[in-house]
Amino acid sequence: MDTLSHGLYGGALFGRKSKKKFFTAFFFGIMPDIFSFGPYFVLMLLGLYPMEDHSHGQPSMASIPDFVHVMYQVTHSLVIYAVVIAILVLLGRRAWVWLTLGWPLHILVDMPTHTQEFFSTPFLWPLSDFSFNGISWSNPWIFIPNVIVLAGIYGHWYLERRRAKKN
Ligand SMILES: [Zn+2]
Repeated sequence: MDTLSHGLYGGALFGRKSKKKFFTAFFFGIMPDIFSFGPYFVLMLLGLYPMEDHSHGQPSMASIPDFVHVMYQVTHSLVIYAVVIAILVLLGRRAWVWLTLGWPLHILVDMPTHTQEFFSTPFLWPLSDFSFNGISWSNPWIFIPNVIVLAGIYGHWYLERRRAKKN
């Protein structure tokens, strides 16, 4: 799915209690993409990598530097997420776990919405390289229902808050 939608799902589902919690949950929703593609975009903007050519659709996987692929594996793995959560729990930070749930949700949403041609989701990495060959999120059959679901979640939340304020 696109990065913004991931953030909006994370924020609305796991960060409703306050603005700070919303932005924390939003951050965990977008984090897998930000940590993998973010540094690459910054380096491209700085002219340290040639700008990607999108004129013929998606750029080839081989043209994208290795560190992006490595970070994509790390951030899109439910195994890595489980390790991070185990550490948080061991450190006695169980209360933080709720705010991070946008991260595994990001992985679960990406699994069926990426094709194997372009960044399929290595959710079992490093135990296995298995991934699903899904339908790209840019396909209108995925993208339009996604916008409708997000509008529904935020519309419902807005009405709930308005009702709570009236009482
Ligand atoms: Zn992603």
